[in-house]
Amino acid sequence: MVFGKKKAKPASDQLSIGGEDVVIPPLEIKTVGVAKDEAQGLMIAARQLPGYPVALVLLANGISARADRILMDYSAQGAVVRYRVDGQWEALPPLDRPTGDAALVVYKKMFGLNPVERRAKQDAKFTTNFKNTDWVVAYTSAGVPSGERVLFQIDTKKPTIKTLSDLGMRDAMQETFRGMLNGDKGIVLVSGPPGQGLPTSWRVSLESADKFVRDFVSLENKAEAEAEIINVSQNLFEIGEEEGPEAKFEKMLLKQPDVLVMPSLINSYIADRVIDQITKLGKHSITRMVATDSVEAIIKLLSTYKTEARVIVKLLSGVLNQRLVRSLCDKCKQPFQPTPQLLQKLGIPAGRVQKLFQPTIPPPPEQRVDAKGNPIEIEICKKCNGRGYYGRMAIFELLTVDDKLRQVILKSAGNPDAIRQFAKQNGHLGFQEEGILACALGMTSLQEIQKMMAAK
Ligand SMILES: [Zn+2]
Repeated sequence: MVFGKKKAKPASDQLSIGGEDVVIPPLEIKTVGVAKDEAQGLMIAARQLPGYPVALVLLANGISARADRILMDYSAQGAVVRYRVDGQWEALPPLDRPTGDAALVVYKKMFGLNPVERRAKQDAKFTTNFKNTDWVVAYTSAGVPSGERVLFQIDTKKPTIKTLSDLGMRDAMQETFRGMLNGDKGIVLVSGPPGQGLPTSWRVSLESADKFVRDFVSLENKAEAEAEIINVSQNLFEIGEEEGPEAKFEKMLLKQPDVLVMPSLINSYIADRVIDQITKLGKHSITRMVATDSVEAIIKLLSTYKTEARVIVKLLSGVLNQRLVRSLCDKCKQPFQPTPQLLQKLGIPAGRVQKLFQPTIPPPPEQRVDAKGNPIEIEICKKCNGRGYYGRMAIFELLTVDDKLRQVILKSAGNPDAIRQFAKQNGHLGFQEEGILACALGMTSLQEIQKMMAAK
């Protein structure tokens, strides 16, 4: 060894993972809630630990890969690390137990937690500036039956999605939806399934509304309150507080707002008061519901406020719903000419769509060989790193509620499929139709739309 032509010893800021030297990334960690002096001391101590390079590389690579979650599962054998990128979990080569343990000790040390504690739940939060972006990362570790589980939740400090276009809403729909948000004497319902970005659509919807000529106010449960939105004056209530939401609502009305932003109509009393404001004073309201499609959102709203149901249907002007799909990487997506049979299956009239797009997914490393088994070079897209997709977008369904549909809703509240069928017959585009439109625009792939439809 000593006399061999061994590579130079890695410099102190490098480490060898799988035979490759890795530079320790410039990831400066600032733990939230720890005094500056103490945090400095903790960092100095952590840097001396053998697991420091691995701990930092795992975090930095995760952020570089656009992961919004990093999950580390410890068992007797070792640690399995997974990154969640665009909603998909990707497993890294497993770490042996000593390497995994050493990294975990570093995290706990850096965050001022107890490195020896491997059962009780411990959490921390830190900020870091990496790749010219400010990040906020929440850390949790806790014992589970198989060992210990560590989760990092990674968010940008400032929201990166600001407009309906950023979310992927097509222009014509944006215009219709803005018309609903900026309308008057009505209720607009923003909905989506759980875990499919409803809070983001809710925020962006409110940000897209014209708030300069009208006063927007919101009443929100403090426990579930969203971040404040510019030009929406936020009022919070707490369950069990002496001044209940009813009193807060009445106080809010003293400012004579134009638009009542209600993440929930809260209770029958407040729902009645919102309706009063709309019918008697010409106000407008925007509310929200967790539901898998627009029709389900309406039915859930009506069944929550049964006494008010008839008036709510009368006032409802539109319902938005959404699902997330991955966006094709625009650097490596490949056009293909769909066969007439495929177009027919997708319900696209002949001649309307000349090309659709598919992702470029390189074969796994072990298959990158020629017929003789010699390795061949395959160029991997630098933007998406061979994922074929880059980021996510929403497929929206926007249901316009008109008088004809109102009658059907009132008659068929117990039969959502009848409502869906009627809407479709009257030109409403559901998720499948909207998804195919997004494919025709080259934004996503048919596979993603199929997956979205199957997920229901
Ligand atoms: Zn790509």
